[in-house]
Amino acid sequence: MTSPQLDASAPVVEVGHLRKTYPAARRGGTPKTAVADVSFQVTRGEIFGILGPNGAGKTTTVECVAGLRHADGGSVRVLGQNPQADPALIREHVGIQLQEAALHDKITVREALDVFGSFYSARADSAELLDLLDLTAHRDQQFAKLSGGQKQRLSIALALVGKPQVAILDELTTGLDPAARRATWNLVERVRDSGVTVLLVTHFMDEAERLCDRLVVIDGGRVVAEGTPSALIEGLEGDRGVLLRFSDDGARGRAVNVLTALADHDDDVTGAIAVGDEIEVTGTRKVLFAVVQALAAADVVPDDVRTVERTLEDVFVQVTGREYRAEENEEVAA
Ligand code: ADP
Repeated sequence: MTSPQLDASAPVVEVGHLRKTYPAARRGGTPKTAVADVSFQVTRGEIFGILGPNGAGKTTTVECVAGLRHADGGSVRVLGQNPQADPALIREHVGIQLQEAALHDKITVREALDVFGSFYSARADSAELLDLLDLTAHRDQQFAKLSGGQKQRLSIALALVGKPQVAILDELTTGLDPAARRATWNLVERVRDSGVTVLLVTHFMDEAERLCDRLVVIDGGRVVAEGTPSALIEGLEGDRGVLLRFSDDGARGRAVNVLTALADHDDDVTGAIAVGDEIEVTGTRKVLFAVVQALAAADVVPDDVRTVERTLEDVFVQVTGREYRAEENEEVAA
C-alpha cells in the first residue's frame, strides 16, 4: 500500500463547521441532527478533549474525524488529508479505541495485539506496548478473564498497535472504579508523552479537567466553550467564595459580626452568610485577603479556611445556563 504524502506542519486534526444529521429511524419520524456546528484544531503532542453530556454529538464528531462516518457538511482534515474523501488516507496514522472492545472471550492479550497489529504496515513493539499500558503480567490472560481496567488498557493498546500519530479514545473510564480511572489517566499521559497526539472523548468533567491540555465543550451538537481547563475556569464570571469553619459558637458569632461589617464597607467583599458551623464569604479575587486581614485584626481564628472550588462544571453552567447532567440526552435544534 502506498502511504500518502502527509503535511507535517498541518494541525494534526482540523474540523470546520462539521454537520451530521441521522435520518429518521422510521417513516414519518424526525431526522436527528447529532452535530450542528463543530469546529476545532488539535495541535501535535497534546491531549485534546471533546467534553459534553451524553448525546451532545461527541462520538459522531470523532467518527467523522476517523473517516468512519460521512458528514453532511463542513470540513475535516487529519494530518492535512481529508478522511471524508478517502478514509484509507489516514488509516495508518489514526488509532481508534472503540467504546466497547468486541473481542473473542478466549483471545489472549498478546494474540489480540498480534491480530490487530497485522492490519498495519508499521507495528508498535508488543513488549513496549504491554509495558506502556501495564499489561505485561497479563499478556497470556484471556480477554474474558481481564478486569474492567485491564480490558480498557488493552483497548488503548490496540488503538496504538499501528504506531498511530493520533489516538482517539472514547469514554475510556466509563464503568471503572476511582483507582482504575486514576491509573488510566496516568497511562493516557504516558501515551501523550510518548509522542502520540490524543483526542479524548469524555462526559466526565473531572477527567477533562485533569487530563486535557485543551478542550472543546460540546452541547447539543455545538461548541459552547473552548480553551485550556484553567483558562476556562479563570474566565468564569461571578464571585469567588471562601468557607470558614468555627466549632466555637462565640468565635463564629464574632466572625459573623466582623465579616458582615466587612461586606458593608469593603468593595472586594459582596456578602457573608452563616450556614451551619460555616460562614461563606463571597467577593472578588481579593476576598480571601480581605477576610484573613479582618479576622486577624479582630483576633478571631477559624478552625478551617477553604476556597470554594471552581470547576469546568461551573463553566458549563455559565455558558449553557443549566446544570450539567452527564447522562442527559439533549434535543438538538436543527
Ligand atoms: P455523544 O457521543 O456525545 O453521546 P453521539 O454522537 O453518540 O453523542 O450522538 C448524538 C446524537 O445522535 C444522539 O441524540 C444520538 O441518539 C444520535 N445518534 C447517534 N448515532 C446515531 C445513529 N446511528 N442513528 C441515529 N441517531 C444517532
